[in-house]
Amino acid sequence: MKAVQYRSVGAAPEVVTVPDPEPGPGQVLLKVTAAGVCHSDIAVMSMPAERLSFPLPLTLGHEGVGTVAALGAGVTGLAEGEAVAVYGPWGCGNCAKCAEGKENYCLRAAELGIRPPGLGAPGAMAEYMVVDSPRHLVPLGGLDPVRAVPLTDAGLTPYHAIKRSLGKLTPGSTAVVIGTGGLGHVAIQLLRAMTAARVIALDVTEEKLALARSVGAHETVRSDASAPARVRELTGGIGAQVVLDFVGAPPTAAAAGAMVAVEGDVTIVGLGGGTLAVGFGALPYEVSVSSPYWGTRAELIEVLDLARVGAVDVHVETYGIDEAPLAYERLHSGRINGRAVILPNG
Ligand code: NAD
Ligand code: ZN
Ligand code: ZN
Repeated sequence: MKAVQYRSVGAAPEVVTVPDPEPGPGQVLLKVTAAGVCHSDIAVMSMPAERLSFPLPLTLGHEGVGTVAALGAGVTGLAEGEAVAVYGPWGCGNCAKCAEGKENYCLRAAELGIRPPGLGAPGAMAEYMVVDSPRHLVPLGGLDPVRAVPLTDAGLTPYHAIKRSLGKLTPGSTAVVIGTGGLGHVAIQLLRAMTAARVIALDVTEEKLALARSVGAHETVRSDASAPARVRELTGGIGAQVVLDFVGAPPTAAAAGAMVAVEGDVTIVGLGGGTLAVGFGALPYEVSVSSPYWGTRAELIEVLDLARVGAVDVHVETYGIDEAPLAYERLHSGRINGRAVILPNG
């Protein structure tokens, strides 16, 4: 079968032919319908060899949906042909965090060598993929697979980040979304569906800001040195109760700290290497700063439920498997609006 692989450190991803996988005991083989292209893959492909925690080659794709093609020995509860979404942050299934559905924070994944598909295990950017357990599959339940696939990360990650701050997103509050790309443009829609907050979106190009407005941002602001002052102006000097930073670079993390309100939350989701110092006087009183990773199994079910009632509409650009390297190139240079989705069997 064809697969999109990251094969050697620093090289561009390549489309190669690899043996068709077979599901082992307890595993599920999916025929992949769609795989999302996430900026984290670019972060991984920019890491020096000593920071990579898994061997190459790696089949990319940590956002996947497909249909059940074969069941490994002992697997029950799934039917061949059933359409499912993959829960990506695989854990052991047994530790205290996994028992709560928080496999993204599994206590034993590192020790057991468990890695997410596309981030260590073979991922969804291939005609077929093996999912290690039926526990990591959620029925699509009638959702369009191509528009639903980004929900497994670009939906789940902002959903988890917003849930942490729901108590602060009261009527009259303001939420800022920094970076309105794959994750950010879904975050705006989730904020609108889950809260009464006013949403201010920041990005660097007019095209991205136009997408932000079209998916529900009340205000858009150019992300530059004057952005914190503009956000304070728009909030009567108070600042934003919640700032979600989907860039996470040093200037955006600093801007987040400069625009957050007293008792607000700053959540750094982007992997841009930015940090925010916490200590008396460094930030407004009682601000909380967090950097979460992905989301829980229950939250993926909730995000798909939200999409099913029409609350989220992911803006997608589709590519055939041979065009996947082009999709990465375009994402790297900021030329994807919304989410790029690869159709490995399309
Ligand atoms: P993306 O490329 O689709 O979106 C990033 C957006 O940020 C783009 O619209 C870009 O124009 C904008 N941007 C760039 N510089 C900016 C600046 N200085 N100010 C404002 N906007 C700016 O990327 P994505 O796939 O949505 O991922 C976003 C980030 O989240 C990446 O760093 C990714 O690695 C990370 N991520 C983290 C998790 C997690 O669990 N923590 C999960 C998924 C993705
Ligand atoms: Zn991702
Ligand atoms: Zn675990």
